[in-house]
Amino acid sequence: MLVSAKEMLQKAKEGHYAVGQFNINNLEWTKAILQTAEELKSPVILGVSEGAGKYMCGYTTIVGMVKGMIDELGITVPVALHLDHGSYEGAKACIAAGFSSVMFDGSHYPIEENIAKTKELVETCEKLGLSIEAEVGSIGGEEDGVVGMGECADPNECKMIADLGVSMLAAGIGNIHGKYPANWPGLRFDVLEEISKKVGAMPLVLHGGTGIPAEMIQKAIALGVSKINVNTECQLAFAAATRKYVEEGKDLEGKGFDPRKLLAPGVAAIKATVKEKMELFGSVGKA
Ligand SMILES: [Zn+2]
Repeated sequence: MLVSAKEMLQKAKEGHYAVGQFNINNLEWTKAILQTAEELKSPVILGVSEGAGKYMCGYTTIVGMVKGMIDELGITVPVALHLDHGSYEGAKACIAAGFSSVMFDGSHYPIEENIAKTKELVETCEKLGLSIEAEVGSIGGEEDGVVGMGECADPNECKMIADLGVSMLAAGIGNIHGKYPANWPGLRFDVLEEISKKVGAMPLVLHGGTGIPAEMIQKAIALGVSKINVNTECQLAFAAATRKYVEEGKDLEGKGFDPRKLLAPGVAAIKATVKEKMELFGSVGKA
């Protein structure tokens, strides 16, 4: 079922676990994530960046693919289709195309403008029963050409945005997108704790889930994180498995060039990564 992420994240917050957002890039990615969620009886959020949206031929193509797959594969666990780091225009386009959830990333605007734009989108999403994620304090690293420095969110600004009625809130706590550098000092749990106190029951979102040590993930969940975004880790797993297949010359054996065979090891690697994350986040059996 394609559903809003609101209820699954409220349940996660109450149950002290987190739901994974796994970004999709194509049919194989989507199928691997949906099948793993169903096997593990876990709720799941499919993330789509604006860049991936263009790559997959637009938001209506994606809605068609995901809805079709849920139906044809007999997926029964709750699935949210979510725009990741959306612009104001991108959020509106995804709402029109039939996404069940959007993120409006207004973290680069002055706080007043972030509030005004978030407020308008919250009203639209409320009317349609969709969930909406907002962001305070930009997340470090690079995503679709946007480079953030990894600042920490101001807990008072988090409270202002949370009070607008968003469904979940992404707050920078020293996390970054992509691979973490060797000298990364770790998550700022002091900031997370302060934000958690200010926003109460609001589910918090941790972006840049790739490479954060398991103990830090668990501590973040204990402090109120209910949604964790994973993107780079699936890409690295897929690339490594595909590289191995080619380097072992498997594509030259028999019909090893068949894309269904060529991409199979990568798909298996995505499934294994998603399973590992769902187990770590505690969402297995929570659907
Ligand atoms: Zn992000």
